[in-house]
Amino acid sequence: MTTTCLFCRTPLRHTFVDLGMSPLCESYVSAEQLNSMEPFYPLHVYVCESCFLVQLEEFVSPSDIFTEYAYFSSYAESWVEHMRRYAEAITQRLQLGDKSLVVEVASNDGYLLQHFVRMNIPVLGIEPAANVAKVATGKGIPTLVRFFGEALAHELTRDGKKADLICGANVLAQVPDVNDFVRGLRILLAPDGVVTIEFPHLMRLMAENQFDTIYHEHFSYFSFVAAERIFAAHELVLFDVEELPTHGGSLRVYARHAADESKPVSSRARELRQREIDAGMLRLETYQHFGEQVKETKRKLLDFLISARRAGKKVVGYGAPGKGNTLLNYCGVRTDFVDFTVDRSTYKQGKFLPGTHIPILPPEAIREAKPDYVLILPWNFKDEIMSQMAYVREWGGRFVVPIPETRVLE
Ligand SMILES: [Zn+2]
Repeated sequence: MTTTCLFCRTPLRHTFVDLGMSPLCESYVSAEQLNSMEPFYPLHVYVCESCFLVQLEEFVSPSDIFTEYAYFSSYAESWVEHMRRYAEAITQRLQLGDKSLVVEVASNDGYLLQHFVRMNIPVLGIEPAANVAKVATGKGIPTLVRFFGEALAHELTRDGKKADLICGANVLAQVPDVNDFVRGLRILLAPDGVVTIEFPHLMRLMAENQFDTIYHEHFSYFSFVAAERIFAAHELVLFDVEELPTHGGSLRVYARHAADESKPVSSRARELRQREIDAGMLRLETYQHFGEQVKETKRKLLDFLISARRAGKKVVGYGAPGKGNTLLNYCGVRTDFVDFTVDRSTYKQGKFLPGTHIPILPPEAIREAKPDYVLILPWNFKDEIMSQMAYVREWGGRFVVPIPETRVLE
């Protein structure tokens, strides 16, 4: 069977990177499950030769992944702060008020919408993971437990709802049918409304070797030019863009109806488009070099771990993020190299990483173990983590990041 492009249906023939077989990166394993079978799926990423959308073949149904999701946004302080600043800036830019409606797609535990609620702006959250949505509802944030797409957008407009702002952070990559999703945005958006969508920037992923951000839960990976083409197919124009430091480098694109000419296309959007074209984002060869870069990263991490362990050093992990699971499974790193990892999320503590079965302990375990090296798996939060864990230096411990390549931090 030939798999076709999620967006344009061209048969997928070109590999972007093949990370082998991997378990679902959010399927943390409990002690009772340790001796049971664990499903592994191919983590093979393709690039479409005609629209340059980078994408996974779909093996796992979204309802299996997202109905009991372990990630609570509010656990990462810098992320909550990032979204607070966004809420204030966009409220001012769009002059939102008590007659407006802000809809967030994949609203998680209400980490963003709570800021609009505080400013008396009506909100609606849409969140398919029931356990997470319940937390939001408990905080007074109206939340629908649904997947977003054309059908839900029609239901909401039939109820007289039109959104002045639709936002979504880290949802686009997780959408199994990108056409249905973007059509939904167009239907729900008020004639002069704005959509802002944040997603990891493919050009940065490639330049900085962030292959560990690839997992089954992320079906597609977007450049600005690919996103622009997809939105344009649904009569939405990307009229502005911001480059953000979050998740190793993200884009926040601003979309409006094609007919809404009150918002001209910004120089930032034109400049980024040109920069991507210059970087080869519309040429197949650019994508075909990525796989070799990834293999070299694996060799570097294993070199470091082998030398450290041969020298009798103790290595532990920090964090149990999805990206850590891609990295550790691809590199074959288990408790033979990393004794344990720690995570602040009580949901994950006491469980084991999928596939590698490295135990997840509370952060205090690092103080007791006094390791020589702490491998920071959520490297995008490395500054925050190093300041929280500054005491590691007291016994001469050092921090290591695996991406863009293995490096001991000074
Ligand atoms: Zn395509």
